[in-house]
Amino acid sequence: SAKEGGRNALAYYDAAMADAVEGRTALEAELRLAFERREFEVHYQPIVEALSGRIVGAEALVRWRHPQRGLVAPDVFIPLCESTGLIRRLGALVFSSAAHQQVAWAQAGHVLRIAVNLSARQLRGAELLSDLAAALRASGADPRQLQLEITESMLLGQDNELLALFQSLQDLHLGLALDDFGTGYSNLAYLQRFPIDTLKIDKTFIQGLQNNRALAELIVSMARLMRLRVVAEGVETQEQLAWVRAQGIEFCQGYLFARPLPVADFGALLAAR
Ligand code: C2E
Ligand code: MG
Ligand code: MG
Ligand code: MG
Repeated sequence: SAKEGGRNALAYYDAAMADAVEGRTALEAELRLAFERREFEVHYQPIVEALSGRIVGAEALVRWRHPQRGLVAPDVFIPLCESTGLIRRLGALVFSSAAHQQVAWAQAGHVLRIAVNLSARQLRGAELLSDLAAALRASGADPRQLQLEITESMLLGQDNELLALFQSLQDLHLGLALDDFGTGYSNLAYLQRFPIDTLKIDKTFIQGLQNNRALAELIVSMARLMRLRVVAEGVETQEQLAWVRAQGIEFCQGYLFARPLPVADFGALLAAR
């Protein structure tokens, strides 16, 4: 089934090797070639309504289909894209794919809100806004159906520049989500200062409920206090889903529903519903 399709599909090759100087240089050269050879693929993981299971959105997650290594996970190559400056190109590719995909699914009758991850270096780059605006224009996507995901650490100590950037994102009508919430400072002041509309509760809380239930519930009440949309990440079991529902968390994402899927498999899942 589509749910099984992505299982174990990612080849997590030895990250230590990628760090070794030689390996790193080779990987960097291959990474540059990967753009020419169009080896990047964007997979989509459903975001569902917790009560109904209805698919209401998706997160875009990039993979590298390497000719020898197989499907390489983002944790391996995103840091290298950041340190080499290739992240601008990769980020633009992912956002543009997501915007076009949003339109294609909407035209097929499935209006989904699609979330795209940003990395720290993209936030500091001057080109981000023009790249986003260009992709919106080219795709004709409704920006209200697109959302950018950032993490708390990206917000540290750069208030003024970021406020201006986020104001411009709001002017473009793009949504902003705080990803991996609970793993950083979980600072309420950030949530107040920045125009964040969604909190994604990190999977470590969902998966560690037997140990940190009280902490997880505190995080949920913070989100509720701030009147934010809440997404529970990493929901793998019925027990976790039951907790999510009991907490009144509206949305969830996790292997219980589906792994990140290639576009064709995601489309099949939509058609089957
Ligand atoms: P993230 O944004 O927090 O994405 C969620 C990660 O959790 C994904 O890993 C997803 O496959 C995984 N996941 C989803 N449900 C479950 C579950 O039930 N159990 C478990 N154990 N894991 C689950 P993935 O695709 O390997 O991505 C890892 C990270 O790489 C992402 O974390 C994000 O920070 C980064 N990333 C992925 N795509 C992009 C991109 O296009 N641009 C940037 N800048 N970063 C990206
Ligand atoms: Mg994310
Ligand atoms: Mg996350
Ligand atoms: Mg993450």
